[in-house]
Amino acid sequence: MKKRKTFITAVCIVLVVLMLLSIIVMAVAPLAYASSSSEIQDEIDDLNSQKYAIQGRMNDIQAQIDSLDYQKANTLEKKLILDQKNELARQEIQVIDEQIAIIDNQIATIQKDLAEARQEETLQRERWLERVRAMEESSDIGYIQVLFEATSYSDLLTRLDLVNEILVYDEELEQEYIAARERVESLEAEAEAKFAENEVRRQEQQECRDRLQADIDAACMLMATMDTNIAENEEIMAQEAETLAQTQALIVKKNKELQEAKAAEEAERQRKLAEQQAAMQQAAGAGPVQGTAATGTWMMWPTYTHVINSYYGMRTDPVSGVIYRLHAGVDINSAWGTQIWSAAAGTVILAGWNGGYGNCVMVNHGNGYTTLYGHMSSIAVSNGQSVAMGQVLGYVGSTGNSTGPHLHFEVRSSSTGGTINPLGFSYLT
Ligand SMILES: [Zn+2]
Repeated sequence: MKKRKTFITAVCIVLVVLMLLSIIVMAVAPLAYASSSSEIQDEIDDLNSQKYAIQGRMNDIQAQIDSLDYQKANTLEKKLILDQKNELARQEIQVIDEQIAIIDNQIATIQKDLAEARQEETLQRERWLERVRAMEESSDIGYIQVLFEATSYSDLLTRLDLVNEILVYDEELEQEYIAARERVESLEAEAEAKFAENEVRRQEQQECRDRLQADIDAACMLMATMDTNIAENEEIMAQEAETLAQTQALIVKKNKELQEAKAAEEAERQRKLAEQQAAMQQAAGAGPVQGTAATGTWMMWPTYTHVINSYYGMRTDPVSGVIYRLHAGVDINSAWGTQIWSAAAGTVILAGWNGGYGNCVMVNHGNGYTTLYGHMSSIAVSNGQSVAMGQVLGYVGSTGNSTGPHLHFEVRSSSTGGTINPLGFSYLT
C-alpha cells in the first residue's frame, strides 16, 4: 500500500515537472531561436531545390498535357473523316430510299394494272360464259348439237358461221388475257428484282454506317477520356503552380531575412574588431601594432571559413603537376565572392594582377611582415591605400594558377624576404 502511494506521488511530480518544462520551453524558444545567415542560406538552398523539383514535375506534366492535346487533335481529325464518310453513307442511303420509293410506286402501278387485267379477264370470261349459256339455252347441247339440228343447208351454214364466230371470239379473249397477264407478271418480276437489289444495297450501306458509327463512338469515348486526363493533369499543374508560388514567396522572404542576418553579423564583426583594436592599442601604448609582431597576436584570420585545402610546405602543384614545389601559403576553402579581410592594419603595396597569384593584394604591416592574398575574383582596394584590420581587400575567386575558388594567404618576412607558415601565428578571430 505504501509502495503504491509512493509511485503515484512520483508520477505526479514527473507530470508537474513536464508541464513546467513545456511552459519554460515555450517561453524561451522564441528568444533562443535566432537563425544565422548560414542556417538561412541552407533553408534557401533547400527551398531552391524544392522549387527546381516542382518545376521539373511541372515540365513533365506539361509534356503529358501537350502529348494528350496532340493525340486528341489526331483523334478529332480521324473522327471528322469518319463523320464525312458517315454523311456520305447517309446520303447514299437517302438516294437508295428514294429509288426504293420509286420502285415501290412502280410495283403499285403494276399491281394495279394486274388487278385491272384480272378484272377484265373476269369480265370477259363472264361475257363468254354468258354467250355459251345463251347458246346452250337455245339448243341445250352445245356447238355440235347446234350444227346437227340444222334444218337445211343454208341453215347449217348460218349455224356454222355462228359457231365459228363464237370460237374465234373466245380464242381472242383468251389470248388477250394471257398477254396482259404475262406483261404484268414480267413487269412485276422486274420491279421485284430491282426492289431486292436496292434492299441489298441499302443493307450494305446501313452496315457501313453502323461500322462508322461504332468508330465514331469509339473516337468520342477516347476524346472524352483524353479530356478527363487533360483536366486531371491541369488540376495537378494548378496545384504545383500554387506550391511553386508559395515556395518562391518563401524564398523571397528568406532572402530578405538572409540580408538582415548578414548585415547583423557584419555589424557584430565590426563591433568586435573595433573592440579588439582598441584593446590592442591600449596594450601597445598609443601606436598601432608595431613592435608586437614578434611576440603578441597581431593578425586576424582573413576570411569567414577556417577550412584549409592545402597547407604551407612542399607539395605537388595541383595545376602543373610539378612535384616538391614550395607551397608558400595556405589555401583557405571559401565560396566564390566571399569577403577577404586585411589580417592587420597596413599599407597596400600591390593591388592587381600578379602572375600565378591572379588578382592579388599585398599589405605591408610596417612591423617587418607583409601579407599576400591571391586568386581574388575582384579587388576592393588600390595601391598605396592605408587599410585597417578587417577591412575588405577583395573577394574570393579562382584567377591565376588556381583550380577552384579559394583564398591563397601568405605571410612574408621583410627581413628575409621569404615566406613563413601562416599557421605558425595565432589569430584574433
Ligand atoms: Zn595556394
